[in-house]
Amino acid sequence: MSFAELQLSEPLLQAIEAQGYKQPSPIQEQAIPGILAGRDMLAAAQTGTGKTGAFTLPLLQRLAAGEPVRSNSVRALILTPTRELAAQVGASAVLYGRELSLRTEVAYGGVRINPQMMKLRKGADILVATPGRLMDLYRQNAVKFDQLEALVLDEADRMLDLGFLADIRKILDLLPEKRQNLLFSATLSDDIRALGRGFMSDPLEVNVSPKVIAAATVQHGLFPVDKKRKGEMLSHLIRTKAWSQALVFVKTKKGCDRLVQELYADGIRCTAIHGDRSQAMRNRALEDFKSGKIGILVATDVAARGLDIEDLPLVVNIDLPRSPEDYIHRIGRTGRAGSKGRAVSLVSHDEVVELRAIERLMKKRITRDNINGFDPEHDVPVSPDPTAKLKKVTKPKKPKRSKSPAGKAGSKVKAKGKGKAGKSSGDSATSGSRPGQRPPPPRAGRTAPPSKGGTE
Ligand code: AMP
Repeated sequence: MSFAELQLSEPLLQAIEAQGYKQPSPIQEQAIPGILAGRDMLAAAQTGTGKTGAFTLPLLQRLAAGEPVRSNSVRALILTPTRELAAQVGASAVLYGRELSLRTEVAYGGVRINPQMMKLRKGADILVATPGRLMDLYRQNAVKFDQLEALVLDEADRMLDLGFLADIRKILDLLPEKRQNLLFSATLSDDIRALGRGFMSDPLEVNVSPKVIAAATVQHGLFPVDKKRKGEMLSHLIRTKAWSQALVFVKTKKGCDRLVQELYADGIRCTAIHGDRSQAMRNRALEDFKSGKIGILVATDVAARGLDIEDLPLVVNIDLPRSPEDYIHRIGRTGRAGSKGRAVSLVSHDEVVELRAIERLMKKRITRDNINGFDPEHDVPVSPDPTAKLKKVTKPKKPKRSKSPAGKAGSKVKAKGKGKAGKSSGDSATSGSRPGQRPPPPRAGRTAPPSKGGTE
C-alpha cells in the first residue's frame, strides 16, 4: 500500500516524500484510515514502528481542514511521558506538517516556563506536552482547551509506570467532552485498557505488536561478568571491538554517573542522560551523541525512553532492566525502521531471574560469549528452555541433594556451559526454581566454570 492510497493530502505526501519513506509502516497502514475518519483508537505499537507518523499525519490532515487556532488555545494535545519524547514527537509534527500552516508547540518541565507561555499566546494547533508542565501552564492560564478537538496519549504504558495517572485524570476533566481520543502504548495491558475505557467512545483497536516483540533486525548477545567489573569490561569492549557509537543503559542515576566517571578515567569520552541532570544538559548530551561528537551515551531507562537515534548500531545493557518489557524498549533504540542493530548485555550471576524473564518473553536464549581475562567468579546459569510451557518448569522436582549435591549439579551445568548456551534445553544450576523466583545464591562447587568459545 502507498501513502497516497491512505487518502493523505498532497502537502502531507510531499513531506513524507521529503523524509524518504517509501511506504507506510504496518501501524501507519492500520491506524491512519481510522484516525482520518475521526474514530477513537487504542493502538499497540512499540517505538521504532513509525507510530508517531501513524497519529501525527492524520491529525495534521484533520487540523488543516478546520478553523484556525485562537489565542492560548490548543486544538490537538499530545501527552508524552518524557521530555525527550515530547521534543521528538514535536519535531516529527513539524517535519510532517512543513507544507501546512499549522502551529506546533512543545512544553515540558525542567526548563523555564515563561518562553513556553509566550509561545502559547498565539495558540497551538498541536501541543506536545508532559503532564506536569501542562498542568502548570493551565494553572497559569497559559493554555485553554475550549477549541480542543483531539487528545493523544503517547506511550501510555510508560505514563502509568511513571505515576502520571492522577495527572492524566485531572487533564481529562478539563477537556471538552466531544473530542477524538487516541491512545498509543507498547502493550495493551489490562491497566491500559481500563484507562482507555474510562474516556474513549467505541475505540477501534489496532495491534501491530500483540505482545512486546523485539525487532527481528537486532542481534542479541551477552557476556557473563562479575558485577564489580562491568565498567572495566565495557572499557575493554569499547577499545577492543572498536565500538564507536553505543547507547549504554544503567539501572540507576548514581550508577550512570559512576560509569561515566569510570569510562572517563579510562580515557573514553562519554556523556550521560538521567532524571537528575538539567534539561539543558540532557539536550546537549543527546545532540553530541546524535551528531557523533561523543560516541558513548550512558542513560537510565526513563531518560532514554522514546529516543530516536538514526542508525544506532549498538545498545549495551550494563544492568538488565527490572522488567523484560523494558529490555525490548531499550533494544528498540537500535535496529529501527529495518536497519541492522546489536544489543549486548553484561550480565552478573545475580541477574539470572531478569535474564530468564527476558529470554522467556523473547522465546529464545541470548547467545553468550566470554571475554578473556574477565572470567566471572560465578557464572550465569543457562536458562531453561524459554519456549517450554510454564507448567513444566513450575513443577518442582525434589532436589537430589542428599549425597553429593555439589558434584552433581556442578557437572550438569558444566556440560551446558561449554559453548552450547544457545542450544541446550535442560535446566541449570537453579534447577527446580520457579520462574520469577530468585534462585539460591551460587555456592562454591554448584556453579560452572565460565563457558568458553561462545558463538557470538
Ligand atoms: P517512531 O516509532 O515513530 O519512533 O519511528 C521510528 C523511526 O521510523 C523514525 O526515525 C521515523 O522517521 C521512521 N519512520 C516512520 N515512518 C516510516 C516509514 N513509513 N518508512 C520508513 N521510516 C519511517
